[in-house]
Amino acid sequence: MAKIKGLICRECKKEYPAEPLHVCEFCFGPLEVNYNYDEIKKSISREKISKGPASLWRYIDLLPVAGEGSVGLHAGFTPMVQARNLGAAIGLDELYLKNDTVNHPTLSFKDRVVAVALTRAKEFGFDTVACASTGNLANAVSAQAAQARLKCYVFIPSDLESAKILGNLIYKPTVVAVDGNYDDVNRLCSEIASEYNWAFVNINIRPYYAEGSKTLAYETAEQLGWRSPDHVVVPIASGSLLTKIWKGLKEMEMLGLIDNVKTVVNGAQPEGCSPVAMAYKEKRDFIKPVKPKTIAKSLAIGNPADGYYALKTVKESGGAIEMVTDREIVEGIKLLAETEGIFAETAGGVTVAVLRKLAKQGLIKKKGLAVAYITGHGLKTQEAVADSVDIPVRIEPNLTSFEKNLNMSSKKGK
Ligand SMILES: *Cc1c(COP(=O)(O)O)cnc(C)c1O
Repeated sequence: MAKIKGLICRECKKEYPAEPLHVCEFCFGPLEVNYNYDEIKKSISREKISKGPASLWRYIDLLPVAGEGSVGLHAGFTPMVQARNLGAAIGLDELYLKNDTVNHPTLSFKDRVVAVALTRAKEFGFDTVACASTGNLANAVSAQAAQARLKCYVFIPSDLESAKILGNLIYKPTVVAVDGNYDDVNRLCSEIASEYNWAFVNINIRPYYAEGSKTLAYETAEQLGWRSPDHVVVPIASGSLLTKIWKGLKEMEMLGLIDNVKTVVNGAQPEGCSPVAMAYKEKRDFIKPVKPKTIAKSLAIGNPADGYYALKTVKESGGAIEMVTDREIVEGIKLLAETEGIFAETAGGVTVAVLRKLAKQGLIKKKGLAVAYITGHGLKTQEAVADSVDIPVRIEPNLTSFEKNLNMSSKKGK
């Protein structure tokens, strides 16, 4: 692969071949993909990208696969919505929402990372894929593995939302519900990954998987007319997505696809699982693991693998990390639905509530161009809002009952 030199340790910079590896054997630092940007620069252009498929595969020159995309061919290239109503409600003049609630095929941003991970896993020759998941990742792996004819095991905490459990089972993978939280699931999966020759998308092929998140940055810039936003608000679970959005923007700048990036990267966490936000608040440069207790289950990672790097990215870019309560999360979901007609899951509620908080604090400026990442669909987390919406007005099937129950009087003839 001319575009890829191999893997490189994020800490000690030791280089490795492009294999299913994820930890440096010398310093135990995480490995990431080491691109040959000089080579990429020769062929990439705005024009070439614009002519590509209407999916994340239009950015294949910057993705760690050897051949063509073979899985998740319709993932990505989701709408960039100008949110005038929500902007007016919270005092922002130029607000956009990157709407991954309609991602294909499983309605969350995880369809991106899985498209890249499974394409790479097939190139490596794996016949079985697996993951440790807070919910959405398992949905994406289950669906895309079914289509790719790969054997599939997904590991989830046993207390997930019912739609996310069903959203695995329907594709007929082996679903393993672990009595424990995500951090327990992840620890178990690391052990399993060292015993079985499976492609664990977020463990042994994590360096490739994580690169899929960069496509959110590429799409953001392209859909805004080849420019970077002044502010972004990104939800944090493991912290990978946030770091990769920044990386993606920086790559585009380096390759001359956009002008100098001055984007301020802001992070969003639920108060019930806010290890990165707490480190930011307490001005620490290390993460203290926590035990999650939040309705935002997709963000409930108490010991985030990329938490340290997410914190570093936010600081480098001059951003902030805020947290919101369960009640604020529900308010965020409802505000987004009522103003923009978008039904987001709890993670989206976290993002909107934090966006509102940062706008109120003046940390996101009224005049700036802000993008918030809405990463999953609300039908997956109905439990969170079921008790906070009105009930239908129930009537008999006649005009009298309609007018009586809705306090109407028909204008015609009266
Ligand atoms: C996984 C997930 C995230 C965050 O992902 P990380 O890369 O682990 O920080 C955000 N939103 C939703 C809906 C997710 O499922």
